[in-house]
Amino acid sequence: MPASSPLFLTQTMKKGACIIAGSALMLGLGLAPAQAVGGGPNNNENGTTNTSILHTYDSMVAELKTQDAMQSALDLEVIGQSVKGRDLYLAKYISDPSNPTILFLTQQHGNEQLTTEGTLEVIKHLGSGRMKDVLKDINILVVPMLNPDGAMGDVNFSLDDYIASGDRHLTRYNANNVDINRDHVAKTQPEIQALHNNVLSAFNIDYMIDLHHQGTRSAINGELVSGSILYPTTTDVSEEVREGSKRLGSIVYQNVDSTGWGHLGKYVGGTANTIARNGIAAEYGISTLLFEMRGMSDHYNEDYVLGQKSNGYLRQQTILTLESTIKAVADGSVETADTSFWDTLPEQSTLLGEEADE
Ligand SMILES: [Zn+2]
Repeated sequence: MPASSPLFLTQTMKKGACIIAGSALMLGLGLAPAQAVGGGPNNNENGTTNTSILHTYDSMVAELKTQDAMQSALDLEVIGQSVKGRDLYLAKYISDPSNPTILFLTQQHGNEQLTTEGTLEVIKHLGSGRMKDVLKDINILVVPMLNPDGAMGDVNFSLDDYIASGDRHLTRYNANNVDINRDHVAKTQPEIQALHNNVLSAFNIDYMIDLHHQGTRSAINGELVSGSILYPTTTDVSEEVREGSKRLGSIVYQNVDSTGWGHLGKYVGGTANTIARNGIAAEYGISTLLFEMRGMSDHYNEDYVLGQKSNGYLRQQTILTLESTIKAVADGSVETADTSFWDTLPEQSTLLGEEADE
């Protein structure tokens, strides 16, 4: 859209300096929108998401309970409640406490839902022949939709300017208007307390992937990316923990970037321990990886929201990320994964100004 349009000005006022700087960069470099990558990243021509096609909190819980009834290896546990009293779930597969353990966390930000959609598919696969064999060699913990109030738009502030169509809006923040991925040190919010007290402190976890969605306009080498990844960058983690994160990232990169539609950049993230990627690595010695998928389900800024025609490959990207890392941790290949790609992986930049997600 032209920089002079009323909508742009509205966004500029809302988003402050970030979008101005980003737009100036784009105009200065004269970048045109990048071409699609394979069948993957495209531009916004495919419109917005109708949120009615996404799982509701209730339908997600129903699916988890169905799988729990069908899968003997799966235990479903309530780890706490959200601000609005929704039960928060942990799906756990513990075959042997001495096995390596990986945790997958989705939807700290309520408007980043395809990560949860893909994760539910993986839970189904873990009950089928396709993935069942790995369970004897790994423990898997899944916390899906940590911010259900934000995901359901059941919050104590207005979402009137959010743009997705459908039966609900989804927002980044929890019901108290707090970004819970800035609460991993103070731990003031019930969702974060549940995660720390009943998951992170309760299990001996080796690896964790924190799944998010970023805006739609990030690119490397002039091509839009399907996502971005980053290891902990705080100074408060050992090199051993950071190396584990880099090896985990190597598995993700090898599997996703080779698909044709997958195109990954390096996320540009901060060093604060308030963020899960840093704080959880520092506090528990867990090798964490941030994965940011392209495009959000809802937002007040249209540059963040990706049309639902992209849902298929983004869900698939989540499934591939989870299943490839499950296999690599189970068979031990993660221990020897080559981390040298990190030295040359370009940091993504944005073709239009937008804030970092994480
Ligand atoms: Zn996020």
